[in-house]
Amino acid sequence: MEEYAKRLHDPYFQTQKATSTASSGSMANRVWVPGPVIVGAGPSGLAAAACLKNQGVPVLILERSGCIASLWQIKTYDRLCLHLPKQFCQLPLLPFPKDFPTYPTKQQFLAYLEGYARKFDLKPVFDTVVVRAEYDGGCGVWRVKTKMVEYVCRWVIVATGENAEEVVPKIEGMNEFIGPIVHTSSYKSGECFENKEVLVVGCGNSGMEVCLDLCNYNARPSLVVRDSLHVLPQEMLGRSTFGLSMWLLKWFPIRVVDRILLLASHFMIGDTDRLGLSRPKLGPLELKGVSGKTPVLDVGTLAKIRNGDIKVYPGIKKLACNTVEFVDGRMDKFDAIILATGYRSNVTTWLKDTNDLFSEKDGFPTKPFPEGWKGECGLYAIGFTKRGLLGTSIDAARIAEDIAREWTTDTKHLKSLRHPPL
Ligand SMILES: Cc1cc2nc3c(=O)[nH]c(=O)nc-3n(C[C@H](O)[C@H](O)[C@H](O)COP(=O)(O)OP(=O)(O)OC[C@H]3O[C@@H](n4cnc5c(N)ncnc54)[C@H](O)[C@@H]3O)c2cc1C
Repeated sequence: MEEYAKRLHDPYFQTQKATSTASSGSMANRVWVPGPVIVGAGPSGLAAAACLKNQGVPVLILERSGCIASLWQIKTYDRLCLHLPKQFCQLPLLPFPKDFPTYPTKQQFLAYLEGYARKFDLKPVFDTVVVRAEYDGGCGVWRVKTKMVEYVCRWVIVATGENAEEVVPKIEGMNEFIGPIVHTSSYKSGECFENKEVLVVGCGNSGMEVCLDLCNYNARPSLVVRDSLHVLPQEMLGRSTFGLSMWLLKWFPIRVVDRILLLASHFMIGDTDRLGLSRPKLGPLELKGVSGKTPVLDVGTLAKIRNGDIKVYPGIKKLACNTVEFVDGRMDKFDAIILATGYRSNVTTWLKDTNDLFSEKDGFPTKPFPEGWKGECGLYAIGFTKRGLLGTSIDAARIAEDIAREWTTDTKHLKSLRHPPL
């Protein structure tokens, strides 16, 4: 207890020890971490860490890649800007710089995150994959294992994200197709696809934007649209569609807001069904609430579809040498395929005691927002709300408050053990 108390009052001791042992390569290291261990140094991990440090709680962040925000640094295309206006994407305790545009570029967002890490002195342990985390009920602690080190702690914050692993669908004949088949996580720009016939599979925000990018590099993109989807203009009535929706929801029920959004969209972008993009029966916000499916915010792709620069196809039946056969019987030649087929959570692969916080099925919280941030025995989730960075900020504040309460009680108790009242 004495030793525990000493360590508790020297928060950096364990973090530094953990860092040095992790990089020294020696085996059989077990390290007690006084504060929470945060798995993942994306925006969510950084936000949780900043809020905790702001409350005086030390943290240890473990990150599998060699940098912060690896999704944004490594796996996104060059022309990416935030899809939502900056006021909905800033992390707690640090607003975006005033001179940033409404939709900051990827480089600006990354500069902001670097500044965020610097401001709160966040130093993740990089190149450290968490391979297993489980609750040891006997000792009442979590054991978080990497290849080299076992970190023992009271709190684990899962910040590995909704986009931890690429989803690559199995398509018949994939091995026979002679052109490149790449996931959007490896796509940087359309530069190397000039004059090529490129098939983009998946029409979320990424798929739509990659098509636009390909057009700008004089490639000839086609888009596979398998399911129905809502496409909305990025801005309506001089405001961001997202901001307008949030404002309308304060006054009207969700179905009324959906009707307003669909009516305004119809006036602005016309009937998307005629372009091969049929709308789901549920409205965009209701569908988002029920299934988590995000409406696509159009940044110019629809105009290119309308004037024929981008062709639309239904689902793929099979691939052959250089052709693609579609479910409607059409067959066409393509030089390359880009899979804009999204990502999935990896939580179930390493978190062994999901404690009912996470579903074994998809690695997302079992309880819907705003309930899915806290589990049993000191387990927390951040960034799994399907509400982007806004959800992250809400989670971070709640988690920090919750852990700080226990931390303060503990430190008071331990101080009294070290210095008992006379
Ligand atoms: C193209 C694109 C555009 C987007 N635009 C927006 C937008 O405009 N606004 C918005 O709000 N959201 C947007 N999003 C959603 C986006 O996912 C979030 O904004 C944000 O990146 C989520 O942060 P996160 O920290 O939860 O997850 P991530 O950014 O994915 O970070 C998770 C981190 O955990 C690490 N990790 C994973 N597994 C392990 C492990 N086992 N051990 C150690 N580390 C691990 C990963 O390497 C990663 O660094 C966009 C997403 C994409 C793909």
